Amino acid sequence: MWQAEVRVDLDAIRENVSRIRSGTTAEVMAVVKGDGYGHGMVPAARASLDGGASWLGVCTLDEALTLRRAGITAPVLAWLLAPGLPLDEGIAAGVDLAAASLPQLDEMIQASRRAERPAQLHLKIDTGLSRGGATVADWPALLEAAAKAQSDGLIEVVGVWSHFVYADMPGHPTTDRQLAVFHEGLSMAEEAGLRPRYRHLANSAAALTRPDTHFDLVRPGLAVYGLSPVAGETFGLRPAMTARAKVVLSKRVPSGSGVSYGHTYTTERESNLAVVPLGYADGVPRHASNCGPVHLGGVRRTISGRVCMDQFVLDCGDDPVEAGDVVTLFGSGADGEPTADDWAEAVGTINYEIVTRFGSSRVPRVYD
Ligand code: PLP
Repeated sequence: MWQAEVRVDLDAIRENVSRIRSGTTAEVMAVVKGDGYGHGMVPAARASLDGGASWLGVCTLDEALTLRRAGITAPVLAWLLAPGLPLDEGIAAGVDLAAASLPQLDEMIQASRRAERPAQLHLKIDTGLSRGGATVADWPALLEAAAKAQSDGLIEVVGVWSHFVYADMPGHPTTDRQLAVFHEGLSMAEEAGLRPRYRHLANSAAALTRPDTHFDLVRPGLAVYGLSPVAGETFGLRPAMTARAKVVLSKRVPSGSGVSYGHTYTTERESNLAVVPLGYADGVPRHASNCGPVHLGGVRRTISGRVCMDQFVLDCGDDPVEAGDVVTLFGSGADGEPTADDWAEAVGTINYEIVTRFGSSRVPRVYD
């Protein structure tokens, strides 16, 4: 018995990864950070590995160690590391680490000493995102220090990498500029005596649209879960997540009934209302008030009034509705239900955020 659930189709994840894998000569790092974009980090990781990924990408050391504790032995890269973390635990667990500055490199060298094992590092260059990565100005010093630490046997430089700004807009000139900076960064690494086995740059959008950016490894996240990074294209991917709930109460109300907090919606005629047990504690954005799309009784409907913490209301007009009827918020779209893209458009966000917030809420996740 269930009241609300997020269903995750692991076959879809396997198929999506296999599709990405068959479109490239590079290896695939499935990005499973953020609880696998809400799909569950460990199940998503396993399904991705089954589908042909050979690497897993996460942000935090905790995420990487959770994968190891789950018995996953595939290479894992963790790339967002504040000072003072027990990096030696990561190194001992065979987790690769990303370094983008001399202080980070230094911490990783110290951690390697404690772990009595050289850290496997991926040096990150900022090719234009101005987020992670060493600036082009700081890159030579990072390379020089890393090359020295490597020749001293303290670390091993396994990768050089960067991240795109605009790959989701095919043809955007920034992508070419970033690629050129990346090539330059790679040449400098070679001049410094570093020949990393893995050069990696491509996220989902680049993995799907720019083979010239694939190098040795692509790092798709969104596409793994079947969502498209490029508006208007599906790339044959299959969305893995469906969010749905059962109506808990239906009732007939008179015309002119104000609905939910603040009465931001008023019935225009006598109507059947359905109370749906999902709210912002479950990942439904409050911005979906009066605009979130759902599917009930074969019909697309819009949330009526404010989304509350635990519930929202649908005005079904004269359509019959009963407690227990299933309301689908989003899914693959195959049965006429909205998609995560529809939700993103309705509430002014991106599909990434929709699946991540629903999947990582209090709603039980069920795997098909
Ligand atoms: N690489 C890095 C460094 C990221 O931060 C992300 C996600 O944000 C990805 C790869 C995967 O990106 P996408 O989900 O667009 O494929």
